[in-house]
Amino acid sequence: MLLSRRVAAAVLLLTASTSLAAQQAPPGPDPRLDAIARAPSEERIARDIRILADFGTRHTFSDTLSRTRGIGAARRWIFAEFERISAACGGCLEVRYTRSIVPGREGTRITRDTEIVNVIAIQRGTSHPDRLVLMSGDIDSRVSDVMDATSDSPGANDNASGMAGTLEAARVLSAYRFGKTIVYAGLSGEEQGLFGGAALAREILDSGWTVEAVLNNDMIGNIAGINGEVDNRSFRIFSEPVPPGATEAEQRNRRVYGGEVDGPSRQLARYIEALTRRVLPEMRPRMIYRLDRFGRGGHHRPFNDLGMPGVRIMEMHEHYDRQHQDLRTEDGRHFGDVIDFVDFPYAAKLTGVNAATLASIAWAPPPPTRVRIQGAVSPSTSVSWQPAPDDGAIGYRIWWRDTTAPQWEHSRFIPAGRTLITLEGVVIDHWLFGVAAVGPDGHESVVQFPVFGR
Ligand SMILES: [Zn+2]
Repeated sequence: MLLSRRVAAAVLLLTASTSLAAQQAPPGPDPRLDAIARAPSEERIARDIRILADFGTRHTFSDTLSRTRGIGAARRWIFAEFERISAACGGCLEVRYTRSIVPGREGTRITRDTEIVNVIAIQRGTSHPDRLVLMSGDIDSRVSDVMDATSDSPGANDNASGMAGTLEAARVLSAYRFGKTIVYAGLSGEEQGLFGGAALAREILDSGWTVEAVLNNDMIGNIAGINGEVDNRSFRIFSEPVPPGATEAEQRNRRVYGGEVDGPSRQLARYIEALTRRVLPEMRPRMIYRLDRFGRGGHHRPFNDLGMPGVRIMEMHEHYDRQHQDLRTEDGRHFGDVIDFVDFPYAAKLTGVNAATLASIAWAPPPPTRVRIQGAVSPSTSVSWQPAPDDGAIGYRIWWRDTTAPQWEHSRFIPAGRTLITLEGVVIDHWLFGVAAVGPDGHESVVQFPVFGR
C-alpha cells in the first residue's frame, strides 16, 4: 500500500515534470517522417520511367496527337496517373494542365510559336493553404540536336526519373493531410530554355501564394559516373547563395555583417541536408554552394529568378554519354539515355528525401518574420522575431553556427509567447544566427536569416 502510494506519487511527479518539460522543449522527431522517407517504391518508379521512356520521344516539338508517341501522349498519361492517385485518396488532388505560348524566334531553341504544357497536382493544405511547397520533374526530353523532335529520345534518367519520383511522392504523401499546400509538377520545355518552370513560377507569383520550397528533381537515377565511380549513397543539393537583385542596402549589410551564403534557397538546402541525415542516415547528401552545374540549367532557376527558395536535387555522379545523346554505339561505346542505366532503388531513396522534406515543411508552422539580431560591442546577442499570423507554433528555435560552418550547429528552444531572447555569452561577431518556428508535432520551419538592427 505504502509502496503503491509512493509509486503513485512518483508517477504524479513524473507527469508534472513532463508537462513542465513540454512547455520548455518541443517533442522529438515525428516518426511519420521516417516512414515517409522509406515509403517510395522502386517498382512503381521503375514502371513509370519505363512508361515515360516508351513514348519514344517527349521532345517539346514532338507529336501531341498520337496516343502512343510524343509529348502529348506523355502528358496525358501523367495527368491520368495523378487522377488515379487522387481517386485513391478520395479526390485529395486537383489535377490541372497549365498552358503558355512561347513566341518563336529564329536563332533560339524555340523557332516557332509553341504551346508549353505542364501537368500539376495540388494537395490543398488545411490550415495554411496559401503557403506552398513544390516538387517537380520534367516531361520533355532531347537527343544530340536540341531541335530534333522525331528521333528516339527516351530520356529515362533525364528526366523521366524526376517525373517518376514526383508521381511517387504524390502517392506516398496523398495518404496524409498537411497544413500547407503541396504541388506536384511535371514541367515542360526544360531543354528548350526552362519555359514550363518560368510560366508556372509566374502563375504562382500572380496568384499571391507564398512559396516556401521548390524541389527541382532533375536526374535522380544515375549511380555510375563517367569517371568510373559508382556510388548509390551520395547525391547533390544545388542552391544559389542569395536571391538575385539585392538592393544596395542588402549588399552593404552582407558585406559588413555576413549572409552571402545564407539566402533562402541555401537555408532550404541546409534543411534537406539535416533532415536526410536524420531520416535516411545511410545516404550522403552533399550541398553544392552553386545555383547549378557549370554551363547547365535546371527548373529551379526560374523560381529563384522570381525570389522563391528552390534547389536542385540530383545524382552525385553524371554520365555524359547518357545525356542528350542520339542512341548509338561507336566502337563498342553506348550512347543514349536508356532505362538500362537507371538505378531504381537509388531513385526511390532520392524520392524519399523529397517526400520527407515536403511533409516536414508542410507540417511545420510558417516561418517567423522580421527576424533581427542586436548585440554589437557587447558580450551577448539578442535575437527577436515576429510570429507569422496564426502560425500555431509551440515555440521558436534559435540557431547559430560558426561563420565558416556549412550547417547550423547550436540551438535553443524558446516557448511561444516570447519574441525576444538574449543569448548570454554568445558574442555576435563570432557566429551566424537564424530562427525557425516549431509546431506541436516537432516539425520546424526552414530557418530565417536575420537582419542586423531593430
Ligand atoms: Zn537535360
